[in-house]
Order: sequence, then structure tokens, then C-alpha cells
Amino acid sequence: MARSASSSIRPVTDAAGQLVFAFGPVRTDGHAGMRGTLGGKGANLAEMARIGLPVPPGFTIAAEVCAYLAAHDGAYPPALAAAVDGGIADLEAQQGKRFGDADDPLLVSVRSGSRESMPGMMDTVLNLGLNDETAAGLARRTGDARFAWDCYRRFLRMYGEVVLGISPDAANGQGPFDAVQDALRAEAGLEQDADFAAEHLGELVARFKAVVAVYAGAPFPQEPRTQLWGAIGAVFGSWNNERAVRYRQRYGISRAAGTAVNVQAMVFGNSGPASATGVAFTRNPATGEAALYGEYLANAQGEDVVAGARTPAPLAALATEDAPLYAALQSASAKLEAHFKDMQDFEFTVEAGRLYLLQTRDAKRTGPAAVRVAVEMQRAGLIDEATALRRIPADSIGSLLAPAFDSQALAAAKPIARGLPAGPGAASGVLAFTSEAAAKAAQNGVRVVLCRVETSPDDLQGLLAADGILTARGGVSSHAALVARQLGKVCVCGASELAIDLRARTLAVGGALLREGDAVSLDGSTGAVYAGGIATSLSEVRQVLAGELSAEDSFWYPLFATVMAWADRHRRIAVRANADTPAAAEDAVRLGAEGIGLCRTEHMFFDDERIDAMRRMILADDEAERRAALAVLLPFQRQDFEALFAAMGERPVTVRLLDPPLHEFLPATPAAGQALAAKLGLPAERVEARIQALSEVNPMLGCRGCRLGVLHPEITEMQARALFEAAAAAQRQGVAPRLEVMVPLVGFADELADQAAVVRRVAEAVTAETGERVAYQLGTMIEVPRAALTADRIADHAEFFSFGTNDLTQMTLGLSRDDMHGFYDRYVQKEIFAANPFARLDEAGVGELIVEAVRRGRGTRKGLKIGICGEHGGDPASIAFCAQAGLDYVSCSPPRVPVARLAAAQAALGETGRTRSRQALVPERR
Ligand code: PEP
Ligand code: MG
Repeated sequence: MARSASSSIRPVTDAAGQLVFAFGPVRTDGHAGMRGTLGGKGANLAEMARIGLPVPPGFTIAAEVCAYLAAHDGAYPPALAAAVDGGIADLEAQQGKRFGDADDPLLVSVRSGSRESMPGMMDTVLNLGLNDETAAGLARRTGDARFAWDCYRRFLRMYGEVVLGISPDAANGQGPFDAVQDALRAEAGLEQDADFAAEHLGELVARFKAVVAVYAGAPFPQEPRTQLWGAIGAVFGSWNNERAVRYRQRYGISRAAGTAVNVQAMVFGNSGPASATGVAFTRNPATGEAALYGEYLANAQGEDVVAGARTPAPLAALATEDAPLYAALQSASAKLEAHFKDMQDFEFTVEAGRLYLLQTRDAKRTGPAAVRVAVEMQRAGLIDEATALRRIPADSIGSLLAPAFDSQALAAAKPIARGLPAGPGAASGVLAFTSEAAAKAAQNGVRVVLCRVETSPDDLQGLLAADGILTARGGVSSHAALVARQLGKVCVCGASELAIDLRARTLAVGGALLREGDAVSLDGSTGAVYAGGIATSLSEVRQVLAGELSAEDSFWYPLFATVMAWADRHRRIAVRANADTPAAAEDAVRLGAEGIGLCRTEHMFFDDERIDAMRRMILADDEAERRAALAVLLPFQRQDFEALFAAMGERPVTVRLLDPPLHEFLPATPAAGQALAAKLGLPAERVEARIQALSEVNPMLGCRGCRLGVLHPEITEMQARALFEAAAAAQRQGVAPRLEVMVPLVGFADELADQAAVVRRVAEAVTAETGERVAYQLGTMIEVPRAALTADRIADHAEFFSFGTNDLTQMTLGLSRDDMHGFYDRYVQKEIFAANPFARLDEAGVGELIVEAVRRGRGTRKGLKIGICGEHGGDPASIAFCAQAGLDYVSCSPPRVPVARLAAAQAALGETGRTRSRQALVPERR
């Protein structure tokens, strides 16, 4: 083939200049390594042919042609026509049939296939080559007129829709082909399409041709070569259809990649009772079980399986109904796995008892199946440990831990709303609209879903009591989401379609109206909200971790433990947890956390008794009064820290000084303010005045973080004293905690210096009083852009950094953590956000600040310890970024710890580059 013809095509790397690649039993030009040129389908067809699997012969037109078309106003490379003619001639020779022959016509399929699998996004045309003459020839040759007319009517419709653009919903929401077909079925008094006799199908062909003439404005093209080029053009064109463009954007697939086009000799699963078509998985994609799985339809073509008009039978039925075919499928399945070394899903067709494979690809699978398949394949020696680790999407490990809906019950349920998936797992319970109602129901042993417009620290009681949390407002780093994840609760937040009436205690959405006490179910992994109860169960791995089931009696736990052990062997960064309570800390340790990366001390004040002391402190008129209230809080804090240190032993514990704006601890309504005044014995006006004084237009940028301690050093003093006293006590008992004191929301080196001086002074005082010198490090969060940009100066005072990427994202993007619901959906739709920036690190913006802060910080202090404790610390793609940016650890909510361990291992194994380029948050625009 002349190289010059393709000289302006992007260089072909695998086979110099070739435009058309044959595959089949006689000759195969390509192989599995040529996905870039042949697309996934073409490359795997070639590979299957190479290893002797029965593939109908065909040829692949290189994906480079797609790019050429785009660059040449839709003109093909001049050499392509001859190459395609050559491909067809080869097929004719191999099949002993001729394209367009009136006696024994060669029919072909024309199918897309890009490098990355884009299931269902692009187009396919089957049975190409049929026309009035060849259909009659096919009928004569096969002695089966019904079969011939069936093929022809299918082709007319596909060609009409795919190539001629006759929209499936062109006529009153129903496609014209459907309308004609339904009418004929009714006229003939038939129940279903399968009942059409040959003469009906012949009539259908005539009517379909009329549809084409009317809707396309020209008669159906009878000439097979015209049909062929029409189909080739349509399949190349489908690379740019709306579905494909959206899919590419969603998965970060480059437009330049292009699709290849596969032209393949047809085999017919609809040519009689000994024929069939089906889809098989080499293992069960739901459970990972190593057994052939799938379904088939006798006497049918591929699209019948997808269209759902007939219900396919399970493949297992073939074991008794057609044992030789079942054995042939099993042998093909084994050969595919042994060769491709991954679970495959393949399409097959049986024509008159002969099995053909039409496609194979790596099979999609559930989270648990991904884990099981990887481990079992490693054990079988098919893949090595590193490959097995790379194969498991990190989130799948999470699915082994999360409570799950019963799959049958779920299939019958319909979501009434969708929010953000903020706390993974499944929860089902009765609706409660207040914390009190939630707590009361939980006390009575009833499972509860707490539903709030948004949550505040006041809701802790309800959050603790509930199995699931549902909010109408707030993002994935909103209060509800943070607390839910830390507590391991299921959470759907920001479900903005919900109209919640807290007074009436109702929730309205769509046509549904739910009242307090009505059952509701949440899927915190997808964000779906369901009316009614759906059965759930504690995962097996969780049962083992809780000591309710022994590891030996568990099927899934050993798989989980194996993957975790592998991950720990490969990862280079540490994984800590964000935990504020001993229970959360213990859970984190069970799940493999190596320390606490963030203890939010404010979460320790939510408890009933403490919150009142806290409120007294906030409502104090002067320093003396404030100190008196702080003195009440001190023993609580000390006890909490003692318990936390006991849970963590000698693992590092990063404790952050008080961070939130103080109004968050005060009641939100005048009535609640009055009740508080009465409870604390304070004048109502004083409480009201203080609430007023503390109210801020934008509290996220107001008096919070280290600003609180700078203004009221006695707060920092109390917290530092509680910490050092607790650490001294632990030390006396023989376990020296590894304490790290962290200052929040620092933007200026002097803020940190100010707070560091207070902490160090208290440390010295406690040493003098107790005789115990507690070793500790003092560091800061980097969560204000200015801190990142002046990290060299801040590092003068900081012994460690921890990136608070929730605030850093909020401030870098100028985007509120709590109320971006008004435009978030549109931004995702328009792909301005490729992902939620509070869930996945915005590498281009926030990521740059991180890289810069690491560089500056370590420039001042070599070997500075640096971690991340924002929510991104539990997101696999963000973890990969952090590992690459040189962070020492990530810290995430306890249930995410296993996910982070696996993601960290994958980052070390070199998944990083791929992850980053495919999942960049904000597509760069020029
Ligand atoms: C952060 O901002 O990322 C962080 C961890 O702190 P918080 O979420 O408590 O503001
Ligand atoms: Mg913060």
C-alpha cells in the first residue's frame, strides 16, 4: 500500500502506513498491542484470531483514518478505497461468496471500536450487503425465506437509523420503523415480533423501504458498495455524536484518538434452531466467582439480546440443553482468560451449530468481584501481585466494608431523588426531621434516617443515632458529610430537589410526600434516595472486624486481608485517619490507620454536657468569666485526649486547636436562644446580644481557626493544657503518645508564631507541674492560599504541614463548601467541573498550591513532614496526586482507610500518570 497516501495522517506507530488490517483464520495483520490503530475491538479480534479462536474473518480500518477525515473536511485518504476493495476481495475468497451476488451474497457487519471501550456510544450496522436481489438469493440459498426477510428488515432499519439518520423517535415520540412494525403486528393479529411469518417479514421489508424513501427523501440504496461506504462514513461520524463526545469528556478520552471501523463477515445466530447468539463472562461479574456466566437467545441476532424484546436464557441452561456447545464456550472462555489474563466478556454467535466469537474485552465488574477476581487470578498464577493490585479500583475495597442493599429488593425500588454520594453504603430507616426524634426512635431500637435541610453541630445527637443522613443542602465536605463519614454513616447530601418542611415534618419530592416515621432508604455510594424500606446487611468484612464472625468462617475477609497486605507492601506514603473519638480511632486502627492525621477538637464539645460549658465560655462577658468556663471544659478535654491516646498507643496523633466560628455552638433561633438563657441562668438579652455579635455574613472567612486563639489565647491555653496533661498521664502509665499539635487556618507566619508561643509556654508549665516532659511537634494546617504561597516563612515555625484541602479548595476556587448547590449541577453538566472539586482535588489550581507549598516548606526545613487531612485524603485520584507531590501521608475518615491504602499502593505502582491525565479535574482550556 502506498505510504504517501497516508502521509498527512498522524504517524502510525504499529504498522507503517497501513490503512486496513485483516483478521481471521487465514491472515491476521494486527495484534492486541495495536489498540491505538485498531481500537479495542479490532485489536482483540486480531488477537483472538491469532490464538486460534473462531473469529469470522474481517478487516479493521485504522483509527488514524478518523483523524485524517477530521483534518481533510471528511475526505478519505486516497489509498483507502483500494484497500477496502482488497479487504472485501479477501473476504469473498475466504467465504466463497461474493459481495452483491444474487445467488450467494457475502454480508458484512460494520462496527466501531475505539482504543478505550465506549460501550454503546458509537454505531453499528449489521447484515450489510442485502438488497432486493441478494435477499431473494439468500432465501433461495438457505431455503429459509423467513430468515432472509428477517435479516433484510433488520438491515433496513439499522441502515435507516444509523446511516440515513432517520431518528428512532421521529414520529410522535415513536420511531417510524416501530410504528410500522407495530401496525403490521396488529393487522396480522400477532402477539410478538417472533411470531412474524416469512410473508409478514416480506411485507415489513416493503414498508420499511417506504419509510426510508419518505424520511430520507431518497430510495434505499440497493448497491452494496454504496451501502458499505455509507456505513463506514456513519461509523466514523459516530465518533463525534453527542453521546460519544459526552462519554469522552466524562472519562477524559482524547478526541484525537478516533475510532477504528471493523468490517466483518456476518455469521447468523438467527438462521435456525441450531443457531443462537449471546454474551458470556469468563467469571461472574457480580460476585467474581470463577464460573462461566451469561445469557443467550436461540435463533436470534445480537441486538435481540440487548433490545430485551425476548428474555434470554442463562448460559448455564446450555449445560443440559446443548452440552457440546457449552463445552466449546467453556473452552473458549478458558483460552481467553489464559491469554488476556483478565476476566473477559465476549459476544458469541452460533450459526448452524458452529461457534464464533465476535468480540472480547475486559469485563466490567462490581467492587467485590474486582477484589475476588484479582486475588484468585494471582493465586492461580495468571497475574502477579502488582498487576492484581492495579486491577482493583480502590473504591471497590470500600464496597466490601459498606452495608449493602439486598440486590433483589433494590432492583424493585425506584429512586425519588438524587443527591451527592457523601457517605458510602446503604441505609434504610424511618424518617426523622430533628435530632430529638432521631434519638428517640433509635432508643426504641428503630433504624432512623435523619433528614435536615443542612446539619449543624447541634445535630450531633441525631447524627449519632441515625443510620443514614439526608440533607437538601451542603456539599461533600459540608458538616453533615464530614461527620457522617467519620462516623461511618451513610450520607446523601445536597439533594436539592427535596422540599423539606421542618415544621410540618414532611419531605416532598416529585409527586411523593413523606412524613416523619415513613420509611426511606439511602444509597450513599450513588446518592439515590428511595421511598420505603430496602433490606440491608452489615458486610462480612465488618462482621469479622467487629468480632461477630471469625475470619475462617468468612469468605470475603481473607480476600480483603490479602489485598490490604499487598497494598501495604507496595505503598510509600502513610495512611492516617481523621478521628475525634476513641471509638472512631479504634475503628481506624482496625482498618489499618497508622495514626490520626486530624482530630477536630470542636467535635469533642458537641456532647450535651460539654456543649453547655462551651456555650458558657462563648457567652462570657470578660476573660475571667471565660477562664472560669474553660476550667469546666478542661477535665472533659483531658479525659477525651487520654482516651484517644489510649486508643492510639504509640501512633502519631495530630490534634487541631479549635477551628469553627463560635456561633456554630449557639442556638440558631430566638426561641432556642431563650431556652438556653433559661438553662444557663443567664439574662436572655445577653444571650441574644452575644448571638447577634457573633453572627457573620461569611462565617467561613470570619472569626475562626487560629483567629480564635489569637483573640482569646485562654482557649488555646486550655486545649494545650488538656493535651499535655493527658499526654503526661499516658506517659506515666508507660505509653508515650506521639503528639502533634496543629494550628488551623493560618495565613501569616506571625499567627502561627503567636499560637506556638502559647502552646510552648503551656507545655513548659505542665512539665514543671508534672515532672513529665512530653515530646511533641507543633505544626500547622495549610488551608489558606496565602499560607501555601508563604510556606517558606511559615515553615520557620512549623514542624509539620497538613493540607486542609476543604478550606484550601473553598478559598482557591472562591467556592463555598456549603452552598454551591445553586450552580453545581450546571457546572458539571457543562463540564466546567469534571468532578466535584471538594471530592477530587483540583490539580490545576489547588494542586499547584500544594506543590508550591511543599517546595517552599521543605526549602526552609529539609525533610519537613507533610500530609493532607482534607476530604481529598480519601479520594484515590487525589491520593495519587499527593503521593506524586511528595507528601508523607494522607489522612481520611476511618472507613476510607483501606481505600487509601490501596490507592497509595497503586500510586507507587505507577498508576499515577494514567490517573492524573484521565481524571484531571478542570479541563484546561486555551
Ligand atoms: C480542611 O479545611 O480541609 C480541614 C481538614 O479542616 P475543616 O474541614 O475542619 O475545615
Ligand atoms: Mg479547614
